[in-house]
This record gives sequence, structure tokens and C-alpha cells, in this order.
Amino acid sequence: MSRARIILLNAALGPLDYRVPHGMAVAPGSIVLAPLGPRQLTGVVWEPERLPAEEVGDNRLRPLLQVHDAPPLGAALRRLIEWTADYYLAPLASVLRMALPSSSALDGARTVTEYRATGLVPDRLTPQRAQALERIGERQGLVRELALAADVSDGVIRGLVKAGAIEAVEVSVDDPFPAPDPEHDPPALEPAQAGAAELFVGAVRGGGFAPFLLDGVTGSGKTEVYFEAIAEALRQGRQTLVLLPEIALTEPFLKRFAARFGCEPVAWHSGLRQSQRRRAWRAIASGDARVVVGARSALFLPYRALGLIVVDEAHEVSFKQEDGVQYHARDVAVMRGKFEAVPVILASATPAIESRQMAEIGVYREVKLPDRFGGARLPDIAAIDLLQDPPPRGRWLAPTLVKELEDNLARGEQSLLFLNRRGYAPLTLCRHCGHRFQCPNCTAWMVEHRLVHRLACHHCGHVMPPPRACPECGEEDSLVPCGPGVERIADEVRALFPEARTAIVTSDTIWSPAKAAEFVGRMEAGEIDIVIGTQLVTKGYHFPHLTLVGVVDADLGLSGGDLRAAERSFQQISQVSGRAGRGGKPGRVLVQTHDPSARVIAALVSGDAEGFYEAETDARREAAMPPFGRLAAIIVSSEDLEEATAAARAIGRAAPEVENMAVFGPAPAPLAMLRGRHRLRLLVHAARSLDVQDVIRDWLGTLEWPRSVRVAVDVDPYSFL
Ligand code: ADP
Ligand code: ZN
Repeated sequence: MSRARIILLNAALGPLDYRVPHGMAVAPGSIVLAPLGPRQLTGVVWEPERLPAEEVGDNRLRPLLQVHDAPPLGAALRRLIEWTADYYLAPLASVLRMALPSSSALDGARTVTEYRATGLVPDRLTPQRAQALERIGERQGLVRELALAADVSDGVIRGLVKAGAIEAVEVSVDDPFPAPDPEHDPPALEPAQAGAAELFVGAVRGGGFAPFLLDGVTGSGKTEVYFEAIAEALRQGRQTLVLLPEIALTEPFLKRFAARFGCEPVAWHSGLRQSQRRRAWRAIASGDARVVVGARSALFLPYRALGLIVVDEAHEVSFKQEDGVQYHARDVAVMRGKFEAVPVILASATPAIESRQMAEIGVYREVKLPDRFGGARLPDIAAIDLLQDPPPRGRWLAPTLVKELEDNLARGEQSLLFLNRRGYAPLTLCRHCGHRFQCPNCTAWMVEHRLVHRLACHHCGHVMPPPRACPECGEEDSLVPCGPGVERIADEVRALFPEARTAIVTSDTIWSPAKAAEFVGRMEAGEIDIVIGTQLVTKGYHFPHLTLVGVVDADLGLSGGDLRAAERSFQQISQVSGRAGRGGKPGRVLVQTHDPSARVIAALVSGDAEGFYEAETDARREAAMPPFGRLAAIIVSSEDLEEATAAARAIGRAAPEVENMAVFGPAPAPLAMLRGRHRLRLLVHAARSLDVQDVIRDWLGTLEWPRSVRVAVDVDPYSFL
């Protein structure tokens, strides 16, 4: 072809045509470099018939500069990118960007220069240099990466290189990854497991789109079973993508995978160094990376020969991306399976109502594992009524729970206290004047983090040291923390059991796969007696000596008018309960609540998951809420409240009259201010059958607003803030 239609990696641009110079070969999917004004941008060749663009005469076309040395994006991936842009009302370029690596991975370079400490102490050891060397430790990476890790300038790192304290190392970025061996160490499956595995293996062998819902209680061996499907994909020479909801879960997964297959899979997450990212991307695109495990962002990578997709903990809301392209990785994973014509396994002990409904109507095939592996029993769950059995003043653990912790310690078994709140206290106020510390940029309280001696906003990241005096009334030492976070519970535990070894597990303490690995190692070695953690510890982990779980505040997730609040609480408490009694010893779960008769709590205690889901599903059906109806949120924001309000009202006034659709608002969003921007929200509620994206596209397409106003559409929203 002599001309080519290109999607450039710039969301503000539509598709553009270029001339293909003589001797250059491109096809749909080719990754190219194109001139734009004085700049050079990466883009991808697209089928012109799928992508209307302004017709430009041949003589006005500029020539493409280069085809990158990387395989073209396949047709299935191109269709997925189109579908995602269409469904989530996002620019094609923004979706495309998720499939491509940074430009450095596209160049031909086979090695990069990284740096690491030599162990030499420089003659001139400034505090900055000392800090850099201490924080860098064993780390290796680009100058920029080391500077970031050490929180110093690039100049400090370069100075250390000159002084001989840091040295350069050449790293090959095209080293092949080892190939996992499907026959390395297969388990002997139990009959129910074997039945499930056989179905999956058959689906992988046969190829074709086949979505499965693997619904198995915690500890039933879901992972072992889908490993059999991966083994079959390996035998077929096909790639597997495993999506996990949280990068903290990657490290234990890598270890477990290595035990089964003889080597680790390829990891893909935000914690990779640039050289690792480049190596992984190229191996994925060449087909050399046989099994890839990653967070959401692994979903759009250009697998050359995909044979299977697994979404583990598929019910997790963290699969929903909340900024940029607001997509749901679970749903897009199923679409990818469809376009690639491969099986997709959604694994969960507490499937989302959306997924259960798909199984119910026969779109997904449901596969159940009703029992724990090896005869292990599911833990007994009991409620503690905080009105009957209250903790002493200023404390949060009820006497019954404290007694159980004490007994468990005496037996040498491990316990876990779950509270989904980071930091020490969610609110700080002045005892003298009642002043409450609020984030200057958000409608949110500043959360005290005592470990790092900071007040922090969990929405925008704003931090400040806790002041000695109240900024409102000037009274000194008058600030009091209100309510507990995990750090405060940890204090209480230490006061009660000074000899117990405790660990706090939150995103503040476990912020990298390496930290997660360290935590897992200490748990397995029996170096921790009591874990106090947020939702980060509720899933995935397998600790055989953990026998007691205490849920500090089961009512926490139920407040607020969120559509999925009850479902999410049920899932979270079931998941955290599932950490108890996974080995030979039985587990016990105590749930602290002010309302033991609440439907969620009653269902957890009686073990009536089916009854709970049925009631929730009926309520959704009656209200025509997802999955029986559709929602989309339109968030209008600006630094200027009047401007945001005017734009939101204009959008509201222009709302089309469409049958089976209602528009609510605009109204201030619950998070009325976020990162210094005022936010208003419109909510669109429509029947399932309505193509609500089309309606919104037409509706918003005719309107204009100032550049300083941002309008974001969230299709199938999960956050109602
Ligand atoms: P789930 O993913 O359903 O929570 P796992 O796959 O983590 O369950 O299994 C729980 C534990 O039981 C793990 O330690 C796993 O290795 C072990 N297990 C499960 N099935 C088998 C089996 N057939 N043979 C040996 N160990 C198994
Ligand atoms: Zn804030």
C-alpha cells in the first residue's frame, strides 16, 4: 500500500493518513513512527475501512518515518481496542497506548546500562549520598530509577558513579525467559477438582471462546485446577494470561507457579524496572513469554499466541480502572477471550452478582468446587454483638475477641485482625474548639498515620505533619484521634499482649512485591503471631497456621448508599474468613457488629451464601439495577465551582428524551471536591437493551464547554463517589 491510516498516540487527534515511502512495508497493526508538525509520534496502522478519516489528497501526505522493529498488533487485539474505546467512550489512542510499551522498548537496542552500588564508601559522604546508598541497597536500575527510589536528585547518583560507589552494568534486555514445564510437578487432584480440570483442559485443547465461572470455596484448590488449564496451553504451545487484582499477590503467585511448573512466569506490573518491562513486552509480543501474570495493565499487551485467560479473584473491584480509560478488566478480559477465540476462566469464592447472572442465563459455564481441599473445614463464623459485649472505653476489641486472641497465642497459632482502614485514626479533631482536619483539596478528612508521623489525604495524597497547636483556636496539644485505623488496633494489641509479635499489613507497609514476599516469608516461618491488616490480606494468601480471624468492624462497608455495599461486605468478610483454618487445624471467625441481625451478618453466620445472593439479586432485579439495568455516571469537574455547575446544568438540560432511560442530577458528587476540582454528577439509568453509549455519545457530542471543564463518563460505574 502506498498510503496508510494511522492512529497516533495522542488522544486529541483523530486518525491521520500518511504516505508509505518506497521500500517500506506496512500492514494493519504495524507500529510506526510518524511526523506531526515538528514532532515524531508513535502510532499504529489501522484498516482504513474501519476508521473513517478526512480524505486528504496524495500530494499532501507526509511520509512515515520508520516501522518499529516489533511484531504488528494482531487483528484480535485491534478489534479489542476498538471495542474498548467504543464501550467505555474513550479515545482509541488512549486504549492503544495500553498495548504499546514506552518507545525505548520499540527501538532495536539489545542492552541497557543500569547502575548498582559497589559497596565502596566514597571519601566525601554527604548526608544525601549516605541516604542514597542506604536506600539503594541491593537495587539496580537506571539513574532515574535509583534517584527516585532514594529520593535524591539524578546528580547525586551521578556523583556517586564518579566517586566509584555506584557502577554501571550492561543488562541484556533480550534474554529469553525460561519455559515452564507442564509436567514438572502436577498434583494428584481430588475427584471434583479433576472434573473441573478436565473441562478446562478440553476447552483449551479445542480452542474457541469459552467463558467459565469457577466458583469454589476458599481453599478448594481453584488455583491448582486452573494450573491444569495452563499446563494444557503450554503443551499446545499457546500463551496464558493470568490477571490478579493486586500486585501484592504476584510474589506468592510466582513462587507457587514455580513449584508447579519449575520456573516463574513473566510478571507484568507497575513495579517493573524499565529494562524488565522492555524485556517482558518483547517476549510477550514474540510469543516467548509463555505465561504472563499481571495486574489490569497486562490485559492489552500484544500476546502473539494467546491460548487461555484466567482472572483470579474475579469479583475484586480493583479490576475496575478508575482513571484514564475507565474500564473493567474482568469484562474486557472476557471480550478479549471472545476476539481471540480462547477460553476465559473467572475464578472466585464469592463471584460478583454480574458474573453469577451470566452463569444463570447460560452465557458462562459454571464450575463448582464446593469443598475445601484435603477435608479442611470451612471456618465457623460467629458474630459479636458490640452492644452486648462492648470493648472498654477507648478500645475497639470486645472481651470475647480478646479472650480468643489470648487462647490462640497460648496455642502458638496465628491470628488475623481485619479492619479496612489504613492509618491510626480516620479523623483528628481539636478537643478545645472541635476543629476537624480536612484536606484542603478534597471533601475528605485528613487521616492520621502515626508510624510516619503525618496526616494524609487518601484521595489526593496531600500530607502534613500533625501540628502541635490547633490551627483554628491555637490551643496546644489539644488534638485527639477519633475512631480506629489498623495502626491504632495494633497499638491496642501490643498493650494487651506485649509479648506477641505483630505485623501491620496495608498498602503503606506492603507497597511492592518484594515487601509482600517478605511478609509471606515471616508468616510461613512463624515469626508473626497477630496480623492487623486491611483488605490487602483478605485474599489469595494461604497460611496453614492461621486459625483465628477477627473482623473489627463489620458495619464499616455497609454505610453509604452504594449499590454494591452489602455484596462487597459479604465478599470481603467471606474472603478474610477464608484465610482461617486452611491447614490441618480448624479455623474460627469472630465478626464484631452493632447489628447482628443485618442480612449480610446473618448470612455469614448461618453460611447461607445462596440465600444472601438470591435476596440481593432480587433487589437488583426489582430496581432494574445492574446487571438487570445499566448505569453510567457523567462527572463534570472544574477548579471553579460556578463553571462546573454551569457546564453540568447545560449537560442536564440537553439530556435527550429516550424511552427506557432516565437521567438524574446534576448534583454535587459525594466527593464534591477532589484534587482541588469541584465535581458534579449526573447518573444515567437505562434498560439493559438500550445502547446507552450511543445515546451519550450523541448527547455530549453536540455540546461544548470551556477547556478548564472536564467531563468524564464512567460506564458501568463501581465507585459512586
Ligand atoms: P483456592 O485458590 O481455591 O483458595 P488453593 O488452590 O490455594 O485454593 O488451594 C488451597 C491449598 O490446598 C493450597 O496450598 C494448595 O496447594 C492445596 N491443594 C489444593 N488442591 C490440591 C491437590 N489436589 N493436591 C495437593 N495440594 C492441593
Ligand atoms: Zn485530598
